[in-house]
Amino acid sequence: MTAEPAGDLDEAAPFHALLKDFEGRPAATAGRGKDVVNAPMIRHWCEAMGDTNPAYTGPAAIAPPTMLQAWTMGGLSGHSDRSSAYDELFALLDGAGYTSVVATDCEQEYLRPLRPGDAVTFDAVIESVSPRKTTKLGTGHFVTTRMDVRANGELAGTHRFRILKFAPARRPAQRGQPGARRPRPVINRDNQGFWDGVRAHKLLIQRCTACGTLRFPWLPGCHACASPDWDTVEASGAGTVFSYVVMHHPPFPAFDPPYAVALVELAEGVRIIGNITGVPYDKVRVGLPVRLEFLRVDEDLELPVFRGGEG
Ligand SMILES: [Zn+2]
Repeated sequence: MTAEPAGDLDEAAPFHALLKDFEGRPAATAGRGKDVVNAPMIRHWCEAMGDTNPAYTGPAAIAPPTMLQAWTMGGLSGHSDRSSAYDELFALLDGAGYTSVVATDCEQEYLRPLRPGDAVTFDAVIESVSPRKTTKLGTGHFVTTRMDVRANGELAGTHRFRILKFAPARRPAQRGQPGARRPRPVINRDNQGFWDGVRAHKLLIQRCTACGTLRFPWLPGCHACASPDWDTVEASGAGTVFSYVVMHHPPFPAFDPPYAVALVELAEGVRIIGNITGVPYDKVRVGLPVRLEFLRVDEDLELPVFRGGEG
């Protein structure tokens, strides 16, 4: 991931020296957790993670160690403890053309458990800035910050967080690439019947023959009664936009953004994802009536799409 092209290091050395001056400078000082360690946040975390470890409940509960960073987060209103050094380092990297950022990894060390009632404080330092590295994403510098997390003043753990500030690699233009083909659907035993239907210009919905529940997309069993037996009903083709996104980026070959992709609620009650045609992408709305059509994408692919506007 971080192969170094020959000569890269020498050329970047003076700039890297500037960056290294930031090592050891604070990224955040005298931070204070917005809440003391508490049972409700622990419970929410465990429910979200599906973690039923008994150590996290009851009168002697501890917090899951991996919650370490959660106690330091500023929430929507943020923290006021961020240092100017971190902003200055980012400005320097931005100025050198390393304008993109991606989080790469984090490491945590746990020194003592956190318990309900513990007051959390923290400091963060810019621990290291790497020499210039070239990755598949582009060329830039890894910046590692280390946060020391304290409970009632005693070091409880450390959280190292690494980002890559980089100049994106140049890629050949892909937008609407001539000759590019849309990705092929993955057709298997479970959905073969659906694609057979599309070829015959029918949108087939699976129906459980045990309880009558309709299901889409196609699956081997009924989510309502677990029966593996089914037949199909043909969709009337009427539907409404239940939700949608407009794709602007990234530009995939064979697609020409911006375009709208909708979750369409069919008259039969099941929902299907498809492109909206016949209306400009910025006129697509939740509730827009649509009607099924089949779009020939290339010589061996047709797709169900939804034409908006006519009601
Ligand atoms: Zn059923």
